Amino acid sequence: MSSPPRPVPDPDISGAPFWEAAARHELVLQTCASCGTIRHPPRPMCPACNSMEYTFEQASGRGRIWSWVIAHAPVLPSFAQKVPYNVVVVELDEGVRMVGNLFDVDNDAIEEGMPVTVDFDDVEEGVSLPVWRPQ
Ligand code: ZN
Repeated sequence: MSSPPRPVPDPDISGAPFWEAAARHELVLQTCASCGTIRHPPRPMCPACNSMEYTFEQASGRGRIWSWVIAHAPVLPSFAQKVPYNVVVVELDEGVRMVGNLFDVDNDAIEEGMPVTVDFDDVEEGVSLPVWRPQ
């Protein structure tokens, strides 16, 4: 019996531009067209001014490790070969936080505040996930 496929993002209408940009290896952030507040994850309404208008702007792709966990038990069969793996929360230079995996760093060497830069993991045709590497 083969294992089920790795789950991939299933974007809603607000999040689709983020994932379309990721597939092009570009990191973008939803930005309120009325007041300029940057928000992530994408959602329909600005929490600062209630505007429904927004754009997606190029992000710096840089940030720092804000928090992390090490997964030791696979929660899904498609991740069984990856344990133990890290899941990090990166605080981007733009001030929003993003969840992903940190590559090229031993799990026990991850530190709070570690500077990281974005890269993209091509997980299937047309689907790339933002991941992080040390700066
Ligand atoms: Zn706003």
